[in-house]
Amino acid sequence: MQNARYHGRFAPSPTGHLHVGSARTALVAWCAARRSNGLFTIRVEDLDEPRTVPGMQDAQLNDLEWLRIDWDAGPKIGGPHGPYIQSLRHEHYQAALDQLYRQETLFPCKLSRKDLRELASAPHERQSPYPRSLRPAHVQPGWYAEPHNDAAIRLKVPHGRIAFYDQVCGAHEENVAVEVGDYVLKRKDGVFAYQLAVVVDDLHMGITEVVRGQDLLESTARQLHLIDTLGGELPSYAHVPLVLNAQGDKLSKRDASLSLASLRERGISAKCLVGYLAWTIGLLPEARPVSPGELVDHFDWSLIQGRQHWIVPEDLIEMLSSSVTLRRCSAT
Ligand code: GLU
Repeated sequence: MQNARYHGRFAPSPTGHLHVGSARTALVAWCAARRSNGLFTIRVEDLDEPRTVPGMQDAQLNDLEWLRIDWDAGPKIGGPHGPYIQSLRHEHYQAALDQLYRQETLFPCKLSRKDLRELASAPHERQSPYPRSLRPAHVQPGWYAEPHNDAAIRLKVPHGRIAFYDQVCGAHEENVAVEVGDYVLKRKDGVFAYQLAVVVDDLHMGITEVVRGQDLLESTARQLHLIDTLGGELPSYAHVPLVLNAQGDKLSKRDASLSLASLRERGISAKCLVGYLAWTIGLLPEARPVSPGELVDHFDWSLIQGRQHWIVPEDLIEMLSSSVTLRRCSAT
C-alpha cells in the first residue's frame, strides 16, 4: 500500500543530457520515495527558455526509464496535479505572485545586473545581495496592474535567520536578508524565477520531501521563507553530495562523455551504472550490478550523511564496461 504522506520528486532542467551526477541524485530521490512506500513525481523545469535544449526533455525521460526509475505522476503519464512541465504552468505562478502582491510583499526593480554589480562593495561569489536600502522609496500606485517590461519583481525579505534540518547535511541556517537580500520572483523579460516556480509546484503537487543536489542547499532558506509567506506546509529537505569531474568542477555539458546517453552508446549496462553509483554514495557495500529496486529495502539517510562530493575517476568507463572490474573496484 502506498503511504499518502510521503511524496518525493525529481525535477531536471532539460538543458542537456542527464549525466552520472543527475542520475545519482535521481536514484537517491527515487529510493527515498519507494522506501517510504510513497509517491514519486517527475517535473520538467524548462522555464529558462534560452537554456532549454530541444529534444532534451524526451532524452532525459528515456534516460530515467533506461535506469529503471519509474514515476507515479509526471510527463507521459500525467497525474492529478499536472501539467508536469513548468512552461505549461504559468497560471499557477501568476496566481502566487498575485497573492504575494496582495500581501504587499512585492516591489518593482529597474536596476540591471550591471547596476547591482557596481553597487556591491566587494566581489561576491554569488550574485550580489540586494540590500533593503535599494528598495525604491516610492512606487507608482497601480504598478503591478500595468505592463512592467522594464522592471523585475522582487520579494521584500524580512531580517531574521531561517534554520532548517537537512536529512544529509544536518542543521543549516541562513539570514536571507543579509546573504541574498530581496530576490527576484519574476525577471524583467517576464520569466518567472526558479525560486517562485519550484515553491509553487512543490506546494501544488503536495511534495513532502525535496531531494536534490547540494548545489541547491543555499536556495532552501529562500524557499522556506516563500512557502511560509504563501501559507503552505513545509517539506523536509535532503541535499545529496555532488559528482565532480577530474578538475573538481560540477559536471556540465562539457563532460559529455559522462552523459547517460554516451555511456549507453558505449554499451555500458544500466545495472552496472546503478550499482556503481549506489556504491559511491553508500547505498551498497560493494559495487555490483543491481537495478534500483534492489536498493530500496536497505535505503536509509544515515548511509549518505557526512559523505563528500565524489570525483569521477579517469577510468570510470573502463571500470563500468566490465562487471568483473566493477566487483573488484569496491575492494580498493
Ligand atoms: N531544475 C533544477 C536542476 O535541474 C532542480 C531544482 C530542484 O530540484 O529544486 O538543477
